[in-house]
Amino acid sequence: MITNADAATRARAVIPGGVNSPVRAFGSVGGTPLSIVSARGPLVTDVTGRDYVDLVASWGPALLGHAHPEVVAAVQEAASRGLSFGASTPGETELAELVIDRLSIDGTPGIEKLRLVSTGTEATMTAIRIARGATGRDVVIKFAGHYHGHSDGLLAESGSGVATLGLPGSAGVPADIAGLTLVLPYNDRAAVLAAFEAHPGRIAAIIAEAAGANAGVLTPDEGFNRFLVDTAHDHGALFILDEVLTGFRVSVAGWWGLERTAGQDWVPDLVTFGKVIGGGMPLAGIGGRADLLDLLAPLGPVYQAGTLSGNPLAVAAGLATLRLADAEVYGRVDAAASVVSQALGDALTEAGVAHVISYAGSLFSVAFRDAPVRDYADARSQDAWRYPAFFHAMLDAGVSLPPSVFEAWFLTAAHDDAALARVIDALPVAARAAAAATPA
Ligand code: PLP
Repeated sequence: MITNADAATRARAVIPGGVNSPVRAFGSVGGTPLSIVSARGPLVTDVTGRDYVDLVASWGPALLGHAHPEVVAAVQEAASRGLSFGASTPGETELAELVIDRLSIDGTPGIEKLRLVSTGTEATMTAIRIARGATGRDVVIKFAGHYHGHSDGLLAESGSGVATLGLPGSAGVPADIAGLTLVLPYNDRAAVLAAFEAHPGRIAAIIAEAAGANAGVLTPDEGFNRFLVDTAHDHGALFILDEVLTGFRVSVAGWWGLERTAGQDWVPDLVTFGKVIGGGMPLAGIGGRADLLDLLAPLGPVYQAGTLSGNPLAVAAGLATLRLADAEVYGRVDAAASVVSQALGDALTEAGVAHVISYAGSLFSVAFRDAPVRDYADARSQDAWRYPAFFHAMLDAGVSLPPSVFEAWFLTAAHDDAALARVIDALPVAARAAAAATPA
């Protein structure tokens, strides 16, 4: 029988680090990464045939759980009609209509048009190009600890794998490009105002995760997103809301939907989507005001294109996923997240481990410190060295957590009582392992 170690060794010989995305390598938790051969519902199965309750959910897309039969059937049906045409399809229009409809709340459209691409990285990269094209300016504000994909201008002090590996950014990014990105502390209004003061007439856009979820969860202070829109507009700039991770995951209309239904009366200029919109297939999108989206080629001067953009299989998976993702699904995900996060907190308290759990809807993460986490500096100032022992105790008990303390935990609508019980049963031992851990 082949083991995970065999699979990793073989992969490392031909794939850098043995992985096609860095966090999969278990770099910050150590040990042997899992090599997965299948997944169904709340479970993933590795090369040895062992299954794990999965709290990674493909880093977000698997909202319904893995391999939902209706989503798989939709993809199979689409595949039977051809894999890619390099031409428009009715499904792309249906998906754009569906997304626009889901983001229409009380008659206010959150977005008016949608362009489909294949990855969240492309979506944020294109949103910034639109903002620069629309304003004729070149500087962009982003927040420390927010991750918007791996395009050159957006890697500075980003979260996700860059945080996991403790990197300031990336080699290979020209200083001239990095210099066009201003990185500010999250939830810091004074810093945003000061940036506009210091760079009059130069800032094209503020880009922010709708709720931070790539340095652990960084919940926006109440009214912070609204402040960002207003401040951007006061200075002739645009606000790009990055919902790649939160979109269609935390509610029918993403994080913006949660704020909007809670009475926050603002609309972003541009919104980026990814992950759940493709139901596990490579699909992402840029939505926003029609006058901004119409700047894109072929109508306008801002160029963007993609051989596989709006791929019919990906669109079929996205349509099937969004059609199934109704209020009841979100209710189940919320309930599962609440059960697990509560049990997590109880287990750590019982074991005497200082911790704080941060929430953004059904997304949550733990930080090993006793004060709230409001920004990236807070997230980094924790006893992160407790996480590897915690993570491996959970893995030993058959629960697959994100292999980094700087990531959110993802529940799905398929996490039934049996799956939740396995997680809850594993937590006390893992919490004691975290308590017994010592700094490396
Ligand atoms: N934006 C956010 C908020 C993300 O979480 C991610 C990925 O994790 C991205 C953008 C990039 O998406 P992708 O990995 O599909 O390029």
